[in-house]
Amino acid sequence: MTRRILVTGGAGFLGSHLCERLVADGHEVTCLDNFYTGHRENLSALLGHRRFELIRGDVNEPPSFEVDEIYHLACPASPIQYQRNPVRTIRTSVHGTLNLLDIARDSGARILIASTSEVYGDPEVHPQTEEYWGHVNPVGPRACYDEGKRCAEALAVSYARQYGLQVRIARIFNTYGPRLALDDGRVVSNFIVQALRNQPITLYGMGQQTRSFCFVADMIDGLVRLMNSDCNAQPINLGNPAELTIADLAEKVRSLLGSSAPLMYRELPVDDPRQRQPDIGKARQLLQWEPRVGIEEGLAKTIQYFRQQVSAIEPK
Ligand code: NAD
Ligand code: UDP
Repeated sequence: MTRRILVTGGAGFLGSHLCERLVADGHEVTCLDNFYTGHRENLSALLGHRRFELIRGDVNEPPSFEVDEIYHLACPASPIQYQRNPVRTIRTSVHGTLNLLDIARDSGARILIASTSEVYGDPEVHPQTEEYWGHVNPVGPRACYDEGKRCAEALAVSYARQYGLQVRIARIFNTYGPRLALDDGRVVSNFIVQALRNQPITLYGMGQQTRSFCFVADMIDGLVRLMNSDCNAQPINLGNPAELTIADLAEKVRSLLGSSAPLMYRELPVDDPRQRQPDIGKARQLLQWEPRVGIEEGLAKTIQYFRQQVSAIEPK
């Protein structure tokens, strides 16, 4: 059945893939985005489609909507981007989420909140299960994002308790793929773009910290399954449990590109989590979901995308 769906942050990396998926599934999709980190070009395949509408606007002052479902993704996700204007980040996470919860309540819509593995901070439990409450520095440089997202989760469950709102909470772990912005600052885009330009690959610290990287197609499938599930008001981890060090990631990128770009060590950012790996037992059991794309395959697809982007800017 066709549903009217609002996607906030739909011009960003995840949001644009999600909009494409929802339109392909036959729904009427409205994207609300202020282009803080997103780009109109990400939606070029959808612009002009009769079931797609793009509205330039801010979740902090949203217009009114009558919809059946809301995927609330609006928020910068890269540490560099969310620390650029920390007040704006926390305002978007808290005030923006309150606004979207009000819209959901007033139109009787179901809402999915894009939360993050950052709610676990620098985790002392490994892998991270949804029951773990986390280890977050409330006054560090990442706090605007981590605490903002923790508050967004608290808001979502409060609306569920008080108003009976149907809320879904996705704890998204590091996701990568085509349409990460060239200047986004996250590790996968940085390493690929640096290697393509034959510039030094910037390893923060000694590169021994770990992350677990999920390819975007798997993540979008997980988000849609979560929205359509019965998992009301309980956070669900979504991510690929295959964990690797950042130094290993640099090696993989270099080897896939046949690049001899040198490594350049830089200071480890304050509060950079030392390890991160999702326990996806709940997603497996409740959503029948697990990632299918391995890191080599996902990186190859991502490299193909960035190759085009880089050569469009710097024609040979
Ligand atoms: P992104 O930066 O590519 O996309 C965010 C989008 O939100 C952009 O299009 C941006 O312009 C828009 N936006 C920001 N502030 C806004 C505002 N006030 N009003 C309207 N639009 C606004 O990031 P992404 O990776 O696509 O992340 C999407 C969501 O998923 C975010 O909420 C993020 O916290 C969450 N998430 C992503 C990851 C990941 O690895 N990609 C991991 C954890 C959580
Ligand atoms: N990182 C790095 N070099 C870079 C960018 C990031 O070594 O050019 C590291 C960063 O310190 C972190 C990991 O890669 O340990 C993932 O960083 P990212 O910003 O992608 O996401 P995070 O998981 O920290 O939010």
